[in-house]
Amino acid sequence: GRRKLVVGNWKMNGLKAQLGEVEDIGALAARHPAVEVGLCLPATLIAPAQGVKGAAFIGAQDCHMHGSGAHTGCLSAAMLAEAGAGWTIVGHSERRQDQGETDADVAAKALAAKAAGLKVILCVGESLDVRDAGHAESVVSAQLLASLPEGAAADWLAIAYEPIWAIGTGRIPTMEAVEAMHRALRAALATKIGAEADGMRILYGGSMNGDNAAELLAIGDVDGGLVGGASLTAAKFAPVIAAA
Ligand code: 13P
Repeated sequence: GRRKLVVGNWKMNGLKAQLGEVEDIGALAARHPAVEVGLCLPATLIAPAQGVKGAAFIGAQDCHMHGSGAHTGCLSAAMLAEAGAGWTIVGHSERRQDQGETDADVAAKALAAKAAGLKVILCVGESLDVRDAGHAESVVSAQLLASLPEGAAADWLAIAYEPIWAIGTGRIPTMEAVEAMHRALRAALATKIGAEADGMRILYGGSMNGDNAAELLAIGDVDGGLVGGASLTAAKFAPVIAAA
């Protein structure tokens, strides 16, 4: 079976004053050893979190596709790993939109992360227009295959399905739509990596919280969650972790 993976994405939130929340979430993780729990923090908090992370892993939210060089303001995967990151997100829709990251960029970032020893959460998801037009499964499947790095394998890569219109909105797809999407994504993976797709975790993200997590995580192909707002405090994150 696939071990459930529940990861908080703090986005551009968190100063050292919030390290107490990291500590409390690390303690929550220790109380739920069957679940793999992590926090993808602002890069500035990765090193300070090392002493308080408990049983949670600490991850980054992005990395550069190159190992070093003239890229002012960017961080390489090796820098993030050295700071204490064990994972990184790549391809979050906010970066695809705000920074214009392409599928090819995302695949290159995933490979750079792997080369530095980081595990990777690769994000995909459709806009509301695509959902309303009835093309969500085909569009997101194509996005996934175009973003998938060479050598994709379950021991270092997880997928996060995050419908863009569900992020930070309090809206989520129907359970039937989530089930159909995750099944479609696993089938798409299988066309490229065969039986390896059976072991790959496919997370749901987008307005996941303590009220809806149990129902989402009970879906057969939903192997965890990528949680934004509801991961910012231990009090809000606790019921999501408990639901996994
Ligand atoms: P919210 O949980 O705040 O909707 O954010 C989801 C997300 O984008 C996680 O990466």
